[in-house]
Amino acid sequence: MLVAGVAAAVLSVTGCTAPTGTTTTPAAKMNVTVAAYPLQFLAERIVGDVGTVSNLTPPGTEPHDLELTARQVADLSAADAVVYIEGFQAAVDEAIKTTSPKAAINAAAGLSLLTAGQDGADGGGELPASAIDPHIWLSPANMVTMAQNISGALSAARPDLAATLSANTSSLVADLKALDQSYRTGLASCARTQFITSHAAFGYLAHEYGLTQIPIAGLDPTTEPTAARIAAVQKLAKQYGVTTIFFETLTSDAVAKSIAGDLHLQSAVLDPIEGITESSAGTNYVEVMQSNLAALQKANQCK
Ligand SMILES: [Zn+2]
Repeated sequence: MLVAGVAAAVLSVTGCTAPTGTTTTPAAKMNVTVAAYPLQFLAERIVGDVGTVSNLTPPGTEPHDLELTARQVADLSAADAVVYIEGFQAAVDEAIKTTSPKAAINAAAGLSLLTAGQDGADGGGELPASAIDPHIWLSPANMVTMAQNISGALSAARPDLAATLSANTSSLVADLKALDQSYRTGLASCARTQFITSHAAFGYLAHEYGLTQIPIAGLDPTTEPTAARIAAVQKLAKQYGVTTIFFETLTSDAVAKSIAGDLHLQSAVLDPIEGITESSAGTNYVEVMQSNLAALQKANQCK
C-alpha cells in the first residue's frame, strides 16, 4: 500500500500520465529449463534478471541416474529453451526426443568429447574404455564454449533479449577465463600429477591441465568398484606416492575413506559439482572450482 501511495503521489506531482509510445513495457521473461547444476549456473548468469531457470535435477540429488516425472516431461514443451548435455542423462535425452521443446540446446556442441580410455585416467585395465565421459563442465575452458553455445541459442530463441544476454555472457566468460588461468598457473609446478578420485568425473580437468586421474569407480558414481579395482588403485597410490584420496559430496565416501585408511593417507573433498548443497565448499560453480584447485594443490604439493 505504501509503494502504491508513493507512485500515486509522483503521478499527481507530474500532473499527467506519460504519452503513449514512451511507456516501456518490460519484455516477458524467458523461462529456461536445465538438466543439471553446471547448466543452471551458466543459464542463471546468462539470463540474469530477464529470465528464470529451473533445474530438472533436484538440489542435492546425484544427476547421473535422473528419472523425470510425467509432469517434468510435459513441462519441457512449455519452456522457452531446454539446456542439456547430450549423452549425460538418458531420461533427459529421451524426453527431449518425445516432447520436441521450442529450443533444445546441447551445451556440449562443438566440444571434443573424451571416452573413459582417453581422458588421462589411469584405469589400470579395470574400467570400460568405450563410454563417453559427460563431465565436460569440470574444465573451465569447456565452460567458456558451453556458455557461448547456450547464449547463442537463447538469443536466437529470444532476439528481443539478445543485448542483455550478450552482456551477461561477456561477464560470465571473463570469470570463467580467470578461473581457467588460475588452474593453469596453480597446477604448473607440483610434486606429482596423479590424483585419486571416487568416480571418474575429472577426465576433462586432468586433460586440460596435464594431470592424471586415478578413479576408484567409473564414469557413473553409483557403480560399486570391484575388489580388483580397489587393489589396483592401492598399488597405483603407492607407486606414485599419492598423499590424499579424494571423495565427493553427493555420493558415498565409504570406499574412498577405507582406501585412505588402509594406506594411512588423508582423505579430502574433490567436488564434481553435480549439485550444490549446504556442505559444498562454495555457493556456486566458480567458488567450488576454486576450492577444488586448492585441494589439488595441497594434495600434490604445488608451488
Ligand atoms: Zn559424475
